[in-house]
Amino acid sequence: MALAQRCPLCRQTFFCGRGHVYSRKHRRQLQAALDRLLPQVEAARKAVRSAQVARYVPEHERRCWCPCCGCEVRLHLSHGTLTVLHGGLLEHLASPEHRKATNRFWWENKAEFQMKEKFLISPQEYAQFKKSMVKGLDSYEEKEDEVIKEMAAHIRAVEHSRQEVVRSILEVGFPRRSQSSIQTH
Ligand SMILES: [Zn+2]
Ligand SMILES: [Zn+2]
Repeated sequence: MALAQRCPLCRQTFFCGRGHVYSRKHRRQLQAALDRLLPQVEAARKAVRSAQVARYVPEHERRCWCPCCGCEVRLHLSHGTLTVLHGGLLEHLASPEHRKATNRFWWENKAEFQMKEKFLISPQEYAQFKKSMVKGLDSYEEKEDEVIKEMAAHIRAVEHSRQEVVRSILEVGFPRRSQSSIQTH
């Protein structure tokens, strides 16, 4: 007798035991879940060698669904005013918990074996990412320094032109006005 089981991918209860994973509906749901995650994983994998740091915006809170772990995962890694793009997902994909859950998920769902590696980040890759993250942070700070310098230059320029205006009013405008005020008196 088959016990009622709940399939998290199909979001339905079934009674056909292990046979369910071979059903057409389940295969379709499995494929759809992996297809949704794959572009995010591929984008994250590109960041392994070239981590990018950006100024934090609320958009960086975005999450994606990991069907292997059955949980939501943050795509990016934010700290204070900074975000390391794709850092959240890479951290998740490199975690031993995700590797374990993925092995189980692949076995339970009889998923295509060759596909599995696409959803895993090795400890070596993650170490490489951490290195490139440090570089990314350094160059971000340099860039920020330039922005601050540019802003300071802009403020100085504005200040300068304001002084010019004040000077021209004092030199040209004020005597004329004082003359006219003399005339009115
Ligand atoms: Zn199912
Ligand atoms: Zn996971």
